[in-house]
Amino acid sequence: MAEATMMDDYVQMDEVDWAEFPQGLCAGLVEWKLLHVSPESGAWTAAFRAAKGASIARHVHVGPGEYYMTKGKMLVRGGAEEGGETALAPSYGYEACNAQHDYTYFEEDSELYMTFLGPLNFTDDDGNTIALVGWREVYEAWQAAA
Ligand code: ZN
Repeated sequence: MAEATMMDDYVQMDEVDWAEFPQGLCAGLVEWKLLHVSPESGAWTAAFRAAKGASIARHVHVGPGEYYMTKGKMLVRGGAEEGGETALAPSYGYEACNAQHDYTYFEEDSELYMTFLGPLNFTDDDGNTIALVGWREVYEAWQAAA
């Protein structure tokens, strides 16, 4: 991924290094590869690799998202025992617009691919925005990490 444009895009994923996903947005080791941003639609797509015991900070999906989990085990919305999902690879998941993810936890070393149709609103425990992470923010973070 070279530029944020409306052009076709192609990424040879094994030739792109993983970058650390920013602490504060996660705990433990979470790495990512930004694959595409779509300024015209607000969508962005990334691959994630999370170490066992890592988690993603509390957030709300402003738009829906779809993921394809290729490896590992992830508790979404607290996992099945808490009324959410326990995603076990290989698996597909759709998270609806305004899905609230208070607790996303990786019980095993995991990898997934996800497309977000809009930003993630990371919040504190009271619902106050800490970071609104959309295509522009991930693009700038990815450029800074490269
Ligand atoms: Zn989420």
